[in-house]
Amino acid sequence: MQQVAINGYGTIGKRVADAVRQQPDMEVLGVAKTRPNFEAETAVEKGFPLYAAVEEREHLFDEAGLEIAGPVEDLVAEADVVVDATPSGIGAQNKALYEEYDTPALYQGGEDADLVDTSFNARSNFEDAADADHVRVVSCNTTGLSRIIAPLREEYGVEKVRATLVRRGGDPGQTSRGPINDILPNPVTIPSHHGPDVETIFDDLDIDTLGMKVPATLMHMHSLNVTLEAEVDAAEVRELLADESRLFLIPERMDIDGSGKLKEYAMDAGRPRGDIWENCIWEESISTVGDDLYLFQGIHQESDVVPENVDAIRAVTGSADAAESIETTNETLGIGL
Ligand code: NAD
Repeated sequence: MQQVAINGYGTIGKRVADAVRQQPDMEVLGVAKTRPNFEAETAVEKGFPLYAAVEEREHLFDEAGLEIAGPVEDLVAEADVVVDATPSGIGAQNKALYEEYDTPALYQGGEDADLVDTSFNARSNFEDAADADHVRVVSCNTTGLSRIIAPLREEYGVEKVRATLVRRGGDPGQTSRGPINDILPNPVTIPSHHGPDVETIFDDLDIDTLGMKVPATLMHMHSLNVTLEAEVDAAEVRELLADESRLFLIPERMDIDGSGKLKEYAMDAGRPRGDIWENCIWEESISTVGDDLYLFQGIHQESDVVPENVDAIRAVTGSADAAESIETTNETLGIGL
């Protein structure tokens, strides 16, 4: 049993904790938080030992009636691996702590790629994380792009990727984010930083990306153009993508016209928190013109990286190979809409 510590129990951390708990080969040793809030209360209700991420704030938990198991240092010292799910930039500050206790650490996509030994996407480069001490599970957008680029590269070869990322302004709980009535070129400089981030997974890939932010919270939407190294029939691409376990091809018959119905479907299907761990590709959008492939895909930013974190734990601890890990994670979470 791998003993897993989760440092940072917010949008990503709480989902990773629940997913780790469902694995037959892992246990949540504890979760660390900076302050007592609704998430701290539910962590305690779920039976996750709660650790204080900042010693000077431990008294706030006492005052809120939440029992603290100890300082985050104790959690990191005892863990086989720590998943750092703190806000962007805090993971870099925590690196020294993980090094001090010689505990391998996973970071999230908000951290810089040069913080770590390797960036990670289970479908694309699982083996690169073997024996690594510091691994970055790439962002929601980079995860979504990597999952689809990997099979296209293997099957046909990819000459160039062009992607427009229509990004949600903030997560549903991020009430201070926006825009609330605008469409922002964001970042306004082109190409955006997202392309180079995908190149941390595929270092020889030619990819240009553009970003926008819109008044939405549910999901991101990618408009994708991939120039393949062969002329391929759209039906063949559909079959290829349908075989990928973390790609969900939305069939026309379902009458799902956007992120709202997708989330509704996930909730109807009984998904925890309405999470959608898979890329959601509109089947009808998969089209080819010569050697150019086009499609639309929805990415649930709060959850697509969750199974990737679970697989990254097995990759760094050497406890399974890519195929075994992905299969176990998919089965336990119920991936495959
Ligand atoms: P979040 O703000 O929802 O959660 C972060 C948690 O860490 C909060 O509970 C916060 O109180 C806590 N925290 C702050 N400082 C801490 C510290 N020093 N020690 C321990 N905990 C601390 O953030 P999030 O959305 O879960 O993002 C976490 C990481 O995941 C970031 O790198 C982000 O870029 C990445 N990510 C986020 C999303 C998303 O859509 N939310 C998607 C993919 C990747």
